[in-house]
Amino acid sequence: MACDFYHLATPGVQGLHPYQPGKPVEELERELGISNSIKLASNENPQGPSQIAMAAVQAALGESCRYPDASGFKLKQALSAHYNIAADTITLGNGSNDVLELIGRAFVVPGDEVIYAQHAFVVYMLVAQSTGATAVVVPAREWGHDLDAMAAAVTDKTRLIFLANPNNPTGTWFTGQALREFMAKVPDNVVVVLDEAYLEYVAEPEYLSGLQLQADFPNLVVTRTFSKAFGLAALRIGYAVANPTITDLLNRVRQPFNVNIPALEAATAVLGDTDYLTRSVALNHSGMAQLEQGFTQLGVNWIPSVGNFISVDCGRDAAPVYAELLQKGVIVRPVANYLMPNHLRVTIGLPEENSRFLTAFTEVMKQQSGRTSTP
Ligand SMILES: *Cc1c(COP(=O)(O)O)cnc(C)c1O
Repeated sequence: MACDFYHLATPGVQGLHPYQPGKPVEELERELGISNSIKLASNENPQGPSQIAMAAVQAALGESCRYPDASGFKLKQALSAHYNIAADTITLGNGSNDVLELIGRAFVVPGDEVIYAQHAFVVYMLVAQSTGATAVVVPAREWGHDLDAMAAAVTDKTRLIFLANPNNPTGTWFTGQALREFMAKVPDNVVVVLDEAYLEYVAEPEYLSGLQLQADFPNLVVTRTFSKAFGLAALRIGYAVANPTITDLLNRVRQPFNVNIPALEAATAVLGDTDYLTRSVALNHSGMAQLEQGFTQLGVNWIPSVGNFISVDCGRDAAPVYAELLQKGVIVRPVANYLMPNHLRVTIGLPEENSRFLTAFTEVMKQQSGRTSTP
């Protein structure tokens, strides 16, 4: 009789639904036999990677027979200088996703409670589920985190709270003042993880990085990534900044060689490529305006976003809109798994990609509304 391996898995893993990535261009083109598709589905940097970072990758490939520096010394020194943080507060990860999981592994046992917001980045749910924690999902307020309600949800079983500022897929954000008030309410034995994956794009004067509050709140862990504004998504590199004790704990559960040599070198190089970051942000700013203008013309609503993506309201089930866009070679992201069945999340692309999306979206929306309004 065949063994039922599903029953052997831990309860957390039995209940897990794997992360659903954006559809790769190659896959769509293989399936439909088309070419020239565009992908605005994974919040990737549309300008391509930094040339300086790519030169560093090329140079690093010659070291491919070696293990990477397990301590990531050079990159930590660079981060330390760049952001004025101590090197012993940094944990490097294979993407910030890796770091989010390390935090779960270090602090959560089955039965603990993990708090996050409705519509928050799905990895928080995955961390909660895979560690066997009880997920406490706090209803959103106008699509954003309801920080008061989240603080009120803390019990003596709460071990971790995940916050995203800005949040993906909603693009919503909260002020430094709101963060400070929140931290003041949360007991200091609850670890608060503040995910700042899109921080570089935010221009709001009242926005504040959690790094500024860590001296007052040692239970605040900030995570960041090189995948978005720094344009290194494929290389998988991100990091956490936390007090040295938490950092020590995270490094105990971290695989020694979790970040590879090209990634370490590219990240170090791109930190110094300020032009690249400036271009990322400027391109995003104008592309956001372009999409908002298109949506206004079309008469559809969207959730105001400070990230490099925007969630647009189709006014009806977005699944057929997504499917029709695919037929036109335009890949965006359905977000029904975020309980946003009428929205599609669109990554800000190059100007020509944005207009291609807008043209296709307008066609699909007009067609489909025509279809449904015909008696
Ligand atoms: C993209 C994203 C991440 C980063 O993922 P990496 O693993 O660093 O590529 C983290 N948090 C949020 C909210 C994101 O959208």
